[in-house]
Amino acid sequence: MHRLQVENLRVAVSGKEILRGVTLSISTGEVVVLMGPNGSGKSTLFQAIAGNPKYEIIDGDILLDGESIKDLPPEERFARGIYVGFQSPIAVPEVRFAFLLQAMMNIRAGKKLTDPNPQVLAQAQKIAAELGLRPDVFNRGVGAGFSGGEFKRAEVLQALLLNPKFAILDEPDSGLDIDGISAVGKAVMRLASSGSGILISTHYARVLKFIKPTKVYVMAEGRVVLEGDENVIKRIEEVGYQSYFNEIKQAF
Ligand code: ADP
Ligand code: MG
Ligand code: MG
Repeated sequence: MHRLQVENLRVAVSGKEILRGVTLSISTGEVVVLMGPNGSGKSTLFQAIAGNPKYEIIDGDILLDGESIKDLPPEERFARGIYVGFQSPIAVPEVRFAFLLQAMMNIRAGKKLTDPNPQVLAQAQKIAAELGLRPDVFNRGVGAGFSGGEFKRAEVLQALLLNPKFAILDEPDSGLDIDGISAVGKAVMRLASSGSGILISTHYARVLKFIKPTKVYVMAEGRVVLEGDENVIKRIEEVGYQSYFNEIKQAF
């Protein structure tokens, strides 16, 4: 079992403190859902875990199996098994998607696999079919003319192919039609049952149709203000964040 811990993490962007002491943990096999109003800091947390240098850690720590990774470069965090899929993935149209996947799998394997690797491609094609991605996606540039749905599915495809220790996905269900949400939801559950730890942010209770979270965190104003189960998501969906925060009389 592996464990990813965020401890009292404070993060500043352009000198402004955005995360003001975030504490949470994920173990492999868990499906953890992160919710919170717009601007509460979810994406900032994901960027900080990924190691984006624009996100300055001013206090606290990020630990993988008890070891601090907060000073490691992003590629080293990736090599250690942390995959982060961003809310707004960046297009790199000059790089073929198949090439990106191969490069990722080389890092994952810790050696240069034969390129192109038939097993990697076959596995990627199988996952693409499950996610409802057209097979020509591999020959296109990364994000080149991708629809919103293709962007999100491509992020999830990478996670499934990698089978990382931790798959951290920022709003993987945003902008997807119902078939997309179903495919992504099922894929996330499959990834967890194959041993990955999952952290996903979402705005919608509809994912609960496909995802059974082991734990739910709610963020507000740069902090985790609540830990609970799926009933938290259902209640937030019913009454909205402000009423929910009033109900639980959470002071923050
Ligand atoms: P969420 O993902 O929960 O909607 P974000 O992490 O995107 O929240 O944003 C949290 C706060 O940090 C917001 O007030 C946002 O304006 C600010 N913020 C995030 N990223 C940047 C950035 N790159 N530059 C300046 N401010 C940022
Ligand atoms: Mg947002
Ligand atoms: Mg966000």
